[in-house]
Amino acid sequence: MILIVDDNPDNIYSLQKLLESKNFEVDTAQSGEEALKKILKYNYALIILDVQMPDMDGFEVAENIAGFSKTKETPIIFLSAVNTDKRFITKGYDSGGLDYVTKPVDPDILMLKVKTFYRLYEQTQALKDIQLALEKEVEGRKQAQKELRSKVDYLHTLLESLPQIAFTCDHRGNIGFVNGRWFQFSDNEQAFPQTHPDDKPIAAELQESLDSGKPLEMEVRVKKRDEPGYSYQLLRVWPILENGENNWVGTFTNIDAQKKAEKEKDEFLSIASHELKTPLTSIKAYMQLLDRKLKLDGDCAEAKYVNRVQDQVEKLNSLITDLLDLSKIDNGKLGINKKVFSLERMVQNAVDSIVQTHDQSKMELHRQGDISGLMVYGDEIRLEQVLVNFLTNAYKYAAGTEKVIVDCRVMDDFVKISVIDFGIGIPESKLSEVFNKFYRVEETSFDFQGLGIGLYICSEIIRSHQGTIAVESSAGKGATFYFTLPLNLPIDAK
Ligand code: ADP
Repeated sequence: MILIVDDNPDNIYSLQKLLESKNFEVDTAQSGEEALKKILKYNYALIILDVQMPDMDGFEVAENIAGFSKTKETPIIFLSAVNTDKRFITKGYDSGGLDYVTKPVDPDILMLKVKTFYRLYEQTQALKDIQLALEKEVEGRKQAQKELRSKVDYLHTLLESLPQIAFTCDHRGNIGFVNGRWFQFSDNEQAFPQTHPDDKPIAAELQESLDSGKPLEMEVRVKKRDEPGYSYQLLRVWPILENGENNWVGTFTNIDAQKKAEKEKDEFLSIASHELKTPLTSIKAYMQLLDRKLKLDGDCAEAKYVNRVQDQVEKLNSLITDLLDLSKIDNGKLGINKKVFSLERMVQNAVDSIVQTHDQSKMELHRQGDISGLMVYGDEIRLEQVLVNFLTNAYKYAAGTEKVIVDCRVMDDFVKISVIDFGIGIPESKLSEVFNKFYRVEETSFDFQGLGIGLYICSEIIRSHQGTIAVESSAGKGATFYFTLPLNLPIDAK
């Protein structure tokens, strides 16, 4: 808006019309006093100021304007009747005015100056806006930095309060912060604690995680600075998003007591199963003798009892064998003796032993697929153990249904053996866990006897054959357990 200050209403009128015809917004004042009041109240882009006014002349008004910080930079065009009087002009500039036009006003010259000042005003305004926006941004960034710093401080306080060793690192693995406990294990905040020579080095494992962006979880033995032995720690390193960048938080949790207890339990299982096996073998032998003797004596009621005892002894035997296998796996001693053998023979042996021990009139065992003549490389006895385990489970968890199917299929470069039953099935959410040690599906564990180690042993056997083992099932819909074996025979066996 432009303010016209003139004591002569006619002059105001003609100037106002002229400016409005060029689309400028205009305000007017008929005296210096009125002009000053308006200038303090409103913002003007330009003031056109008559020099000669009765009470307060234009120069006085301009001096006042220059005195207020709000208005001191508002451009002024003086309208002066005395164009030759240099004193006026100098006085005009001294008091903060910026230009002048002599009366009678030449509309073209006035418009030229008005437009120039107006453009200048607009540009100054735009610059001020930019400056304001920049100031705001700087302020915003300062605030964000402050918040970030307080978040980082909070994280560090949190890590300091943990009972574990804790640290942070960036995506290149450079350690940023370590808590006080770190120094019980390392004297250098850039170096990880010393690990056991048989364990994987932490820095290399961490780098792999950082590169893949996946959290790291590993058990590792580390050494306290002033103690001789190593203690088991669970190292977990998780990514956190900080300042738009991936940073990582790591903790070492002491699991030494847990590890010791696990080891003691494994040792106990190993000793107990060995010790149980010896008397059981004797019982089995004597039961066989007794069975033979009773059969020789002809049919009698005792023979039936002996058969039942033999069944139960067989169950006990397979439980103890599983426990023994488990301890062998834990000690890395599950012997696998591979050679080339006929897969058909192995499958048929497993099927025969199940058919002999499970009543076929209630639940029939069917076979599908032809693998006759197929030779594979592996441990025949161990693989038969896997199939027998699948089949025993099928008879156990699908009892009361009509059939169980053994399906054998040769795929591209592997063979797939499946056992399909139509029993209680397994909820989909539990499928990934059934091959874990001691895992039993909770919903059904009370209705069936078992230790939850058979499938774990199976998975270890298949793993040592570079095969795959899996189950497809859903609750109430039966289950298909299968394993695959690669078909590439060793060169000297072809
Ligand atoms: P166990 O049968 O001795 O409990 P396993 O390791 O053989 O141990 O099986 C683990 C669990 O998997 C079982 O407890 C059972 O819950 C489930 N499971 C195994 N086979 C089947 C099957 N054919 N149908 C349904 N559930 C099964």
